[in-house]
Parts: sequence; C-alpha cells; structure tokens
Amino acid sequence: MLTNSRLVHQPHDHGRCISAALSRAEELCAASKARLTSTRKSVLELLWQSHRPLGAYQLQDQLAALSGKSIAPPTIYRAIEFLLKLGLIHRIPSLNAYIGCPFPGSDHSNLFMICNACGSAAEVAHNGINDLLQKASDKANFTLQSQTLELFGLCPNCSLSAAQTGPASPENR
Ligand SMILES: [Zn+2]
Ligand SMILES: [Zn+2]
Ligand SMILES: [Zn+2]
Repeated sequence: MLTNSRLVHQPHDHGRCISAALSRAEELCAASKARLTSTRKSVLELLWQSHRPLGAYQLQDQLAALSGKSIAPPTIYRAIEFLLKLGLIHRIPSLNAYIGCPFPGSDHSNLFMICNACGSAAEVAHNGINDLLQKASDKANFTLQSQTLELFGLCPNCSLSAAQTGPASPENR
C-alpha cells in the first residue's frame, strides 16, 4: 500500500494502484451491500487514472467520451455521492475536486500533499495527527466532526526539476 508521498510521486507501477483500488472498492461494496454499478465504477476508474484530482465537469466530460453518449450532471453527482459515502474517494475542498482514497474503510487523517506544479495529490497516512487535532479540539470545547488537511508545495519530481532549472549556477552560464 502506498502510504507516503514519495512513492505516489515517484515513477511506480500505477496499474497496481488501480487494481488494488478497484478490488478494495468491490470488497467494501460487498461488505456494505452496496452495488458498484458501471457508472460508479467508471467514475472511480477515471479518478484512479492518475494521482491528480478531477473536478465534476472533468469527470462528466471524460465519462461522456468513454461511453460515447452525453452524461447528465446528476448522474455524475450521484456516483460521486455514492463513492464519497463509502469512503472510496475524497473531496479536496480548495480544488473542488475528487481523488481516489488509497486507504478506504480505515480511520485516517485525510491528509493531502498537493503539488503546485504538476497538480498531483498524495494522500499520506500519518499516525498522530488525528490525536493532535482531537486534543486541540477538546481544549477549545470544539466537537470535531470531519477534517481534511491540504498541504501545498512541490512533489519530489517537481522540486527536483525546479532545482535543475532554477537560478543558473556559475558553471552553466
Ligand atoms: Zn499510482
Ligand atoms: Zn483516504
Ligand atoms: Zn509535482
């Protein structure tokens, strides 16, 4: 299981991410007696094409291209709603976009590292963050109900190329 941003952002066998995500989805649906209809499955597959979040319009366009017929927005929103409810995908609020979850069915932090350059988003499992946020909430008498943490920066690939094309060093002038 990919649990760190370095792995997600580095060249890897993404086919394994996809097949793992789809088999977890089948298991979770079976366990909660929910049906992974073809539209729901297609939306999940589209979100797992890469590690870049997609908005509802992008999903609508891509699903239409895939099926060769026009897709009504409610169809997309219902599929998104279903996948969110089962925890198979997350919504990244600041991007108003969705991404597949690598750890569905487990209690985790919803912590994302989002690259400002290439747009990839890695969900990272980090023990301890939830405790910290729970303690901070308790201290403020705040009843914490949900959380999404978005960190913005450069992924390992983009920080490497930024360093290479960065300020010219004396020897390549
Ligand atoms: Zn992958
Ligand atoms: Zn997740
Ligand atoms: Zn990047």
